[in-house]
Amino acid sequence: MSHEIRTPMNGIMGFASILREADSEEEFNEFVDAIISSGEHLLNLINDIIDLSKIEAGILQIEKSKFELNRLTKEIYEMLSVDANVVSKNIKFSYTDGLPDDDCMVYTDRMRLKQIMINVVNNACKYTDQGSILFFYTIKNGTLEFTVKDTGIGIRDDLQESIFDRFMQVSVSRTEGRNSTGLGLAIKKTYLNMMGGNIHVKSKLGVGSEFTIEFLDHFNFEN
Ligand code: ADP
Repeated sequence: MSHEIRTPMNGIMGFASILREADSEEEFNEFVDAIISSGEHLLNLINDIIDLSKIEAGILQIEKSKFELNRLTKEIYEMLSVDANVVSKNIKFSYTDGLPDDDCMVYTDRMRLKQIMINVVNNACKYTDQGSILFFYTIKNGTLEFTVKDTGIGIRDDLQESIFDRFMQVSVSRTEGRNSTGLGLAIKKTYLNMMGGNIHVKSKLGVGSEFTIEFLDHFNFEN
């Protein structure tokens, strides 16, 4: 793990130490951007590590509440449709809801559900260089299925299971410049298992990926 922490830290220290020597305003701004980007990466990593240690200490709690699922999907769309990856690469980004707005009340851990959905949609944004990203949910017999489809770089067949392992980034050449830690999916899979769910992927290298998150009978409807 020390390597994962040292890399962004070295980025911050390295660029901060040459900041005063910048030859132009343009170069100065480049260094500042590099510091911010490494800082964001380090912050993500620290958050993930804190969550992991809570899971390991057995103190991570699931807190259920009643809320409107369509509000959550809207929040995710509004947050990630302005994501730098989506905007700069001109990716078609869309979503559909599986329930009508006036009948979409669900009962589960909203914060964790949102974290899980954001991780998977955000990955689609990170690992897609052109084309489209679509997310949607369906509900059948009390089971919620949330799907994210992208036309991104895809994942080799033999690596599709191991991306759910800790620090598994598949390969550095794939993740370089994409703010990867290899921890997100491992943590979200643990949350999902605690909440009575699971996550699967179908993917084709160079064509795209489809992630499906399932919530089984723990997803109770109260209306
Ligand atoms: P991170 O993205 O921070 O490395 P994750 O645990 O979220 O960590 O993902 C693990 C690995 O799975 C990534 O490094 C990437 O190689 C692969 N991956 C995840 N989502 C996708 C996707 N939509 N398309 C292609 N590869 C993906």
